[in-house]
Amino acid sequence: MFTLKCTGCKAKLMRYRKIGKGRLLRCYKDRIKEDYTIKEGNKVFCPNCGNLFGIDYGAFIKVRKGSFTQKGSYE
Ligand SMILES: [Zn+2]
Repeated sequence: MFTLKCTGCKAKLMRYRKIGKGRLLRCYKDRIKEDYTIKEGNKVFCPNCGNLFGIDYGAFIKVRKGSFTQKGSYE
């Protein structure tokens, strides 16, 4: 499980179960365990500072490079 935090303000964005190694490019919604983000249309923002975290494509969120830090372990 990974905890994703905002690069700007360190607020928690979500807890995410990542399968497989490699860089996190997309967050699939069925693997998001806790979601603290704010949505506006198809845009997904940090709940604290409004930093753009990603774009919602329905089944997944395409995350914006550099907008978050990840801490945790792969499964
Ligand atoms: Zn933030």
